[in-house]
Amino acid sequence: MFAVTDTIVAVATPPGPGGIGVVRLSGPDAHAIACALIARDGGLQPRHATRATVRLGAADLARDACTAAAARSGPHLGRGATGDDAQDTVPGSSRAGTDRGAIDQVVATYFPAPHSYTGDHVVELSAHGSPIVLRLIVRAAIDGGARLAEPGEFTLRAFLNSRIDLPQAEAVGDLIAAVTPLQARVAFDQLQGTLTQAIAGIDAALFDLIARLEASVDFPDEGYHFIEPEQVGAALDDLSRRTRTLLAEARRGRLIREGFQVAIVGRPNVGKSSLFNALVGASRAIVTDVPGTTRDLVTETVDLAGLRVTLVDTAGICETQDSVEAEGVARSRGALGSADLALIVVDGSQALDESDRDLVLQIIDNTRLIVSTKLDLPAAWTSSDLGAGPIVSVSARTGEGVEELRGQILATLEVEPALADPPAITNVRHIALVERAQEALMRAREATLADGVGLPEEFVLADLQQARAALEEITGRRASDAVLAEIFSRFCIGK
Ligand code: GDP
Repeated sequence: MFAVTDTIVAVATPPGPGGIGVVRLSGPDAHAIACALIARDGGLQPRHATRATVRLGAADLARDACTAAAARSGPHLGRGATGDDAQDTVPGSSRAGTDRGAIDQVVATYFPAPHSYTGDHVVELSAHGSPIVLRLIVRAAIDGGARLAEPGEFTLRAFLNSRIDLPQAEAVGDLIAAVTPLQARVAFDQLQGTLTQAIAGIDAALFDLIARLEASVDFPDEGYHFIEPEQVGAALDDLSRRTRTLLAEARRGRLIREGFQVAIVGRPNVGKSSLFNALVGASRAIVTDVPGTTRDLVTETVDLAGLRVTLVDTAGICETQDSVEAEGVARSRGALGSADLALIVVDGSQALDESDRDLVLQIIDNTRLIVSTKLDLPAAWTSSDLGAGPIVSVSARTGEGVEELRGQILATLEVEPALADPPAITNVRHIALVERAQEALMRAREATLADGVGLPEEFVLADLQQARAALEEITGRRASDAVLAEIFSRFCIGK
């Protein structure tokens, strides 16, 4: 389904004006098409910055010359221009005269295959970051024979050309999307291959075990085992220990990668909005254009100790006859349903009323924290009056207790962020597959323990093959086209 035989082009920098904008070409004709765009007949020297002028319409004139020159001497033997040495060569044009068709001065860099981001021939043209200029360059490249890249297609090519494996490709997406330093760090680790290595280690041990068991099955008459039954058990225990270690960090990893949602609930006027503002104010607000499921409620995404936290200020949950208010309550319940943590807010300066108690009784399915507000005013009740366990007291007015509440939020979700020790596994796709491998390993272990029948190698082998298949789906060696399409479609064009 995925071809790497054509040449793709796209703007690799974000939309909108900027200092620099990069147009990236990748594929067998990347070099020839780029040379045509900059009317350069000598070819580009690999991995050298070459100053050049892009001219529209120059392509037709220059393409033949460039292809001919490249065929004569190869791209390495071009002019060898670097930086300001670069000299534009345009048949029939003069530097001093009117340079018709010139649209921008660029820096062109050529990365011959396989030593490029994608593993194909790649040329990057760094132009001025003008959206119109970049669009014209892309258009001209398409006229020159390239095709507009699909979302994530450059990274997909890197995967298809075995430059990176699937978790590393996914880490590129995570790194681009990271909004906290911790998210970026965890994604970069995966890009460096931490998960790849962990999976490869398990897979190698699994492969060895499978090979020895298969040999025992294939040569039953030789009268000896290639592996002793107790060694199988020990090897399986070791494999299970390794998958368990990965999974032990999975929840924390997922929360770091995806962030989490905290819903602030309580009856009207208890101080929810003030608490929301105090929490946002004490955290670094993250500007995000990812639409939330609760966008009709007031939400703010903040960096809470490196974790991406979306705070949702709900309209309050109470019985109401008012239809508009009822809609707000319905949305609040929706937000509560998808929240990882509920902050149940009760006014500490007012006597408890039935609706406070009802709320505490109602919200039992969520992980929750009870917050008593208005700590700067005389307290009207204590935690024993509410009888729902510990409470956190805060004053949005003075800021007292807000820092403690932030700490309690992290402690309750058990996601103490440890930058020094980031989890290896963060992505739900990987987590589900490691779990599948783990289950298969456990089935294999049970089979070895079956009473009285000796070692049923065939059963054990079937389970081990399933464990291996799950691991290969993580690395991408077995991922279907549908899985690849799903993963890469989430990237933006140009990545
Ligand atoms: P919400 O309806 O639950 O969102 O409550 P608000 O945040 O709008 O606050 C209701 C009232 O309580 C407002 O008059 C706030 O000024 C007041 N209030 C909120 N937090 C505090 C606090 O920490 N101390 C004091 N003294 N008043 C507060």
